Amino acid sequence: MMFNIKELTLVTVLLFTQLFSFAGKIDTTIFALPLEEPVDLSANFGELRANHFHGGLDFRTGGVEGKQVFSIADGYVSMIRIDSKGYGQQLFITHPNGYMSSYAHLLRFNDKITKYIQEYQISHEQNMLFIKIPPGALPVKRCEMIGLSGNTGSSRGPHVHFEITELSTGKIVNPLQFFPHIKDFRKPIINNIGVYPMDENSTVNGSDKEVIYVASRKSANQDYGILQPLTVSGNIGFSIQATDYMNNFSHVFGIYNVQLYKDSVLVYEHKMDKIEPWEQRCINSFIDYPYYLKTKNFLQKTFVEPNNKLGFYAKINENKGVIPFVEEGVHRMIFVVTDYHGNSTRMKFTVNVRRPAQMPHHESVGIFLPCNKENVYKIPGFKVVFARGAVFKDLYFTYSVDSVTKLTRGCSPIYKIMDGNTPIRDSVQISIKVRKKIPEKYLKKLTIAQYIGPNATSPVGGRYDTGYVTAPVRYFAKYVVIIDTAPPVVQPLKVYDRANLSAIAGIFFRIGDNLSGVRNFNLWIDGKWSIMYNDSKKSTIEHWFDPSRMEYGKWHTAKLVVTDNRDNAKTYNFTFYK
Ligand SMILES: [Zn+2]
Repeated sequence: MMFNIKELTLVTVLLFTQLFSFAGKIDTTIFALPLEEPVDLSANFGELRANHFHGGLDFRTGGVEGKQVFSIADGYVSMIRIDSKGYGQQLFITHPNGYMSSYAHLLRFNDKITKYIQEYQISHEQNMLFIKIPPGALPVKRCEMIGLSGNTGSSRGPHVHFEITELSTGKIVNPLQFFPHIKDFRKPIINNIGVYPMDENSTVNGSDKEVIYVASRKSANQDYGILQPLTVSGNIGFSIQATDYMNNFSHVFGIYNVQLYKDSVLVYEHKMDKIEPWEQRCINSFIDYPYYLKTKNFLQKTFVEPNNKLGFYAKINENKGVIPFVEEGVHRMIFVVTDYHGNSTRMKFTVNVRRPAQMPHHESVGIFLPCNKENVYKIPGFKVVFARGAVFKDLYFTYSVDSVTKLTRGCSPIYKIMDGNTPIRDSVQISIKVRKKIPEKYLKKLTIAQYIGPNATSPVGGRYDTGYVTAPVRYFAKYVVIIDTAPPVVQPLKVYDRANLSAIAGIFFRIGDNLSGVRNFNLWIDGKWSIMYNDSKKSTIEHWFDPSRMEYGKWHTAKLVVTDNRDNAKTYNFTFYK
């Protein structure tokens, strides 16, 4: 059983509403901490990250794995994920008060949960999984040890990633509201602001380009300001880069609340209380995306683009945060940035409204694609389908073709779509015609890949049909059709045929496939399917010997099969003594 997040959330919500009837105010004092005190946070809710908002709290575990992790309340294990990337080994616990908690990057689950999940893995012959657990199968008590902290998945250092989901909406919520004893008296800091002309009749300092101002102040007790004057005309948007610090914690955190006032009138406000997990990629509309690509810093916009579906906006003016500056004059602007505990920092600056004597020459290159409807762009050999809402705002579509094949496995020209500075909300579907003559039996080996450089690609996927390969893509970049007829690479680590593994606890392999990517791996020992774990950070798969599944003190025959996304398989047969 595999689900996508949306389905899973819905299933969980339905299940939940059948089981518990709840009404009235939620008692939030019943949640215990997931780890022993003292609390050491390294990330908070809503922090800005690549392609997503951080969905919870990161609890650091003193640089080591293996700390006990506890259920924050009574409930039952409702989902389990085992993944080589992302959240690694993750547990979800549904609680009777309308919330679900989750605990990620775990080293292992407790014995009861491990037994349940291993039986599932063996009966389904499935290593990686994301499954729903029926209520009643794995009940847990408040403060029950549910597993050990780790560094599994895409974690870059031992910690527990902890989230709370509101079951009635499926939204993830700010966990700090449940832990009032986590205190903070430090104020956020402001780094930069951005000022944007929003259309061809608007200017910032006489130009049609955005301007970034450094936030400056003379001392830590003063409000921030800007040192250079700011003159605008027409419809203007703003953005702000700000970060927070918390008592005792050495890390930089995301801010909770941004307000923008024009002449004492609130024109924009957001509060990081809840995030729709299925709209995470809207972060690329929430931030100044080209600025992020260039600097890796996050300027948060205080205007909302048409297909940005985020729901945490507390106040936006009738122009979705865009401020019209029409009459000549001077206006006072104030940014107020506040953390979850109410510590605020201000930035004050004035805006001079003056229309330049000559408007800057404005030229749009490309084909106009309105973002409120489906758009199909087609030329011989190449097609792009934008579903409704696929991009955040209207755009001018551009592309170029590079017919010189710089790839030995390339089967089409290389198509460059847009310039990379435009984010995609979910995906855009591209179809590329296969130009090489491919024998019938190899057509299923074709796949779309992102072109990185000469003989360097990154797998995308896709299906071949009547001359074209079609796949959804998440970035505007360079794409090409390649053929993958090569099996994955399998490299045994400290294992070889006829090895004596008496003193060894498990077997390890390094695996890789740089064309279509590894899809799965299966190990049989004496004909019995055996569980393996995969850590994408290390590109390794590992099997830990289990005396309940394998008789010790004898010779065994084993077979490992690693398959890529185009069904090319590498088999490694070996015998060993254990
Ligand atoms: Zn995290």
